[in-house]
Amino acid sequence: MILPGATLGILGGGQLGQMFSLAALRLGYRVLVLDPDPHCPAAAVASRHLCADYDDPAALAELARSCAAVSTEFENVPATALELLARHLPVRPSPNAVAMVQDRILEKRFLRDLDLATAPFAAIHAEDDLHAAWRSVGGPAILKRARFGYDGKGQAGVDDGKALASAWAAMGRAPAVLEARIALRQELSVVLARGEDGMMAFYPVAENIHRNGILDLSIVPARSPEDLRQEARRMAARIATALDYVGTMAVEYFVDETGRLLVNEIAPRPHNSGHFTIDACVQSQFDQQVRALCGLPLGDTRLLSPVIMMNLLGDLWADGEPDWSALFRHPQLKLHLYGKAEGRPGRKMGHVHALAADSAQAMAVLEALRADWGWPKS
Ligand code: ATP
Ligand code: MG
Repeated sequence: MILPGATLGILGGGQLGQMFSLAALRLGYRVLVLDPDPHCPAAAVASRHLCADYDDPAALAELARSCAAVSTEFENVPATALELLARHLPVRPSPNAVAMVQDRILEKRFLRDLDLATAPFAAIHAEDDLHAAWRSVGGPAILKRARFGYDGKGQAGVDDGKALASAWAAMGRAPAVLEARIALRQELSVVLARGEDGMMAFYPVAENIHRNGILDLSIVPARSPEDLRQEARRMAARIATALDYVGTMAVEYFVDETGRLLVNEIAPRPHNSGHFTIDACVQSQFDQQVRALCGLPLGDTRLLSPVIMMNLLGDLWADGEPDWSALFRHPQLKLHLYGKAEGRPGRKMGHVHALAADSAQAMAVLEALRADWGWPKS
């Protein structure tokens, strides 16, 4: 067990790295964050910020020397950097698990091999694959870059074979996945933590509402039947076990028109749809990331109150700072700002949790706030 007082490393200093740092610091650990951005959100809270690229040899050597264990906040760190670190100290999740999930083609094949349902898909590596991909997937589809996509970036809707060819060319002919567009009844996610001993702890299933491919709201508990939520947890457990995963991870699901669960994607890290755990659960998803990383027993995931998480995107900053007084008027709202200087459209600047006796009341508070801010209804 790695106990308080030790130094933990985190690759990536965005909001997830910041919230990991806050959880670790509160527990008495020191945190070393590696991120090439001098103004990254975690830099403001971590014990030390190594401002260097993720594959910078000197920075990786410093992490290996100073830290008792290392985790990552996002799947796009070079797997080679994780492998190098893993020769010297525990890296959780493992480089293998991260490598599997950072490539949509490997990820989808892994899911298919586990017999877990996904949207129909085809891999595209070369010009020759386009025709067969379109024939096998058919109908309206979404072309997704195999690597380095997030928040709907690196994706394009395609409605015919010609559009597919031009969309793929526009992506620079990088490896991609063509995926059937699913008529969505609902989107769900499961955040879980798994320890080195294989023990797992599951958070309540979140119901996720996206706008323009970006998460807008997570409603907890999800408004879906218990057997479906049970099934979502079972599928997530199979994935975590097959990856021999250690740490906090998330699985995103589509519920199609017929009510069937399809796996959308796996996140090898805490997840935006799990932020609610900070204010609404006994232990947060970041507490669990620290615990699993340090070999401590996993914490209690119990939900203490119905909650809705709402993301605050940079669009809100279009005319300067949002009117915070409108938010602070509501005593049920808890604000989390990441300290990013520049509010670009679509950029995640922070989020807010509405805690109330039930989801309808939490939603009413958020709708009132959105109306004050002139934001579209959810
Ligand atoms: P993030 O990492 O933020 O989850 P991402 O860039 O990996 O985003 P996806 O999860 O693939 O993106 O897609 C983002 C959203 O776009 C989904 O949550 C869903 O709302 C919509 N979407 C993606 N793929 C499909 C699909 N095949 N059918 C219908 N909707 C889809
Ligand atoms: Mg997603």
